Amino acid sequence: MTVSETSSLAERILRLKRKKKALILAHNYQLGEVQDIADYVGDSLELSQTAARSTAEVIVFCGVRFMAETAAILCPERVVLLPDTNSGCLLADMITAEQLKQREKELPQATVVCYVNSPAEVKAEADICCTSANAVSIAESLDNDEILFVPDQNLGHYVSTRTDKHLILWPGYCPTHTRIRPEDILRLKGEYCGAKVVVHPECRPEVIALADEALGTGGMVRYARRDDVKELIVGTEIGIIHRLRKENPEKRFIPVSEQAICPDMKLIRLEKVLQSLEEMEPRVKLPDTIRDKARTAIDRMLAIPLGGDSHGGVAGKKLPSVRR
Ligand code: SF4
Repeated sequence: MTVSETSSLAERILRLKRKKKALILAHNYQLGEVQDIADYVGDSLELSQTAARSTAEVIVFCGVRFMAETAAILCPERVVLLPDTNSGCLLADMITAEQLKQREKELPQATVVCYVNSPAEVKAEADICCTSANAVSIAESLDNDEILFVPDQNLGHYVSTRTDKHLILWPGYCPTHTRIRPEDILRLKGEYCGAKVVVHPECRPEVIALADEALGTGGMVRYARRDDVKELIVGTEIGIIHRLRKENPEKRFIPVSEQAICPDMKLIRLEKVLQSLEEMEPRVKLPDTIRDKARTAIDRMLAIPLGGDSHGGVAGKKLPSVRR
């Protein structure tokens, strides 16, 4: 697409967005052209919370399905559009509610902590959700010492290195983040001697061990703004580089791997955003029971402050409002 075609499409989207009183949200991994027409760019939870705070009647979620589901859970009265229904998440697909129920029978004492990168049906079965930013605080906040952590084993392993809790890990992983290799970080550290290194906690433990910080995408964006960061080696999906360079034009950002591309994140294009606004489809809809149970697990997470403060909510596994 030429520059003038892109800008003409962008203008049509913005006109229609105003007419339909819509809010366009884009994840940090989206294509640059999609990030550029969004009202907000952020990580999945930031975007869902932005949706919940806004008064927009329609939310166009440029991300993957589990993110749009979370927005629909937090904003049940709004129309939530996902411009391409094929934009799933290979990590989220590595667990089903039935599989989780089976595992829970084998581990009746464990509290289920569910990473938000999961289907709504799995969140509905979990005791509490977490993000990559608050996973350690969530684990620390639980009275129970035994945790079944689903579905990302790498994030779960990262949490287990920062808490005394006993974590049982689900064998899921993000194929995009497992493509990031320690040898690439070592090579780049040699080439850019003064550069800091940030990686996503979905990366493998041997990659995280080489980084200055393991951060979710929202944390990476904030880290990049620090005065002492001039060059940053970035170990996550390649799409975030667009935002980092746009916000910090005087700094240098070096992706660890040009191959760290999430194909699902790249399915949403301007044409599809326009089409979804014109047709008000495809909408994300969830059964009321799933939505309400998943909301409970998300609300429990949101009630816990970052930093590991204890709370009285999830004591062991037996809270009647959570377990069925
Ligand atoms: S980058 Fe990984 S975790 Fe994120 S949406 Fe893609 S497959 Fe899922």
